[in-house]
Amino acid sequence: MVILAAVLGLLLGHTLDVFFDRLYTDGPLAGPAHRCPHCQHALRPLQLIPIVGVAWSRGRCPDCDRRLPLRAFLLAPGSAALFVTAELVVAGFGPALLAGFFATVFLALTFTDLERRLIPNRVVYPSILLAAAFSWAWPDRSVLEVFAGGATALVLTSVMFVFGRGAFGFGDVKMSLLMGLVVGLPSVVVGVFIGTFAAGAFVLPLLLLRILGRRDYIAYGPFIAIGAVVALFWGEPIWDWYFDR
Ligand SMILES: [Zn+2]
Repeated sequence: MVILAAVLGLLLGHTLDVFFDRLYTDGPLAGPAHRCPHCQHALRPLQLIPIVGVAWSRGRCPDCDRRLPLRAFLLAPGSAALFVTAELVVAGFGPALLAGFFATVFLALTFTDLERRLIPNRVVYPSILLAAAFSWAWPDRSVLEVFAGGATALVLTSVMFVFGRGAFGFGDVKMSLLMGLVVGLPSVVVGVFIGTFAAGAFVLPLLLLRILGRRDYIAYGPFIAIGAVVALFWGEPIWDWYFDR
């Protein structure tokens, strides 16, 4: 089952990578698969194989010879690792696949935010609908806890959105809502806390050292994703440990 989960994760990550430019809401949906965002050359047969294609061309596009973005290396193996973790941590194969899938969505949103400073609606809205539609599918949380998680995320991050003066964007709110609907209550509190703490631990030193200015763009997507994935896999044990139950 672990191997099957790894293969499914690898294939999902690879597919997302190959169609990555399609995830952005401003791009056309149709057209051939390509990996290189620079020349958008159609995929060669070797590149259809996960990991091997990227390794073969030593991380460069075989057509225009420019460096491929980070996700070309990390998305497929990262997704496989998330599916394996899900299979080991989440009870039941179906829920584990669901957890692996949403963890991979958070990984993909990390890369869209890093690459283009965007949390694309084309990814986040269908994922929110999917999370709501599968609210019944989790073994250890009720439908009520799932929607309470979404509502909690919306309340907590709306406060950050209003007081963040543009630093914490509306895309971040939508991504947090997705986290709430995926991990439920009380894990969402763990997720928001870990995400905020990780962002603070990373950003504050850079602000103090004046490497970053107060007006510089900070991608919060990766930190929300860290919080979401930790909360998805270990939210309840962390909650129980913190409140010493
Ligand atoms: Zn190219």
